[in-house]
Amino acid sequence: MGFYHSMHDPAIEGILVSTEVIADTVSELGRRITADYAGKNLALVTVLRGGVIFLADLCREIDLPLSLDFMAISSYSPGAGAVRITKDLDDSITGRDVLVVEDIIDTGLTLNYLLSVLRQRDPASLAVCTLFDKDVRRLVDLPIEYSGIRIPDRFVIGYGLDLMGRYRNLPFLATLREEVME
Ligand code: 5GP
Repeated sequence: MGFYHSMHDPAIEGILVSTEVIADTVSELGRRITADYAGKNLALVTVLRGGVIFLADLCREIDLPLSLDFMAISSYSPGAGAVRITKDLDDSITGRDVLVVEDIIDTGLTLNYLLSVLRQRDPASLAVCTLFDKDVRRLVDLPIEYSGIRIPDRFVIGYGLDLMGRYRNLPFLATLREEVME
């Protein structure tokens, strides 16, 4: 019986973004956010479950008072319009400087819906920070104030992103073998 090691997982084709590049990017985003939000009333809002890995690293790179809150929405279905909120925020965001922390933005449809919901609650400001940006797939034009790493149009896993619930704990971003995709 062999031991599992992600580097030898037959489903994984290769590393698209390394642990080191992710760490550098997260720290640079944190530095920019720290500079931009000084003196503001920052609330980080994250979408479960994928976003929590990025959030956990990002919030420790932001040297400011802030709060964390979470939402959950119905899972990935390409081309879907409005998505269902399955868990709402616990706290009010009225008057807060809200920064939505996303793992990845693909078509942008999910985020577009989320922003319209949050905007109705009268935050003082509303901005977006994503670690990975599949911008060639964008269907709606969204202002992304903080965008980490542009990636090509491939289905990716790791660093929060899953395949049927697995692989979120990979410390890097990986592509899948074609056979697995089918
Ligand atoms: P969008 O509405 O922007 O098309 O989709 C956003 C959501 O789809 C992300 O929050 C993520 O959950 C999922 N998603 C988009 N691209 C990928 C991908 O390459 N891999 C995984 N695992 N999920 C993805």
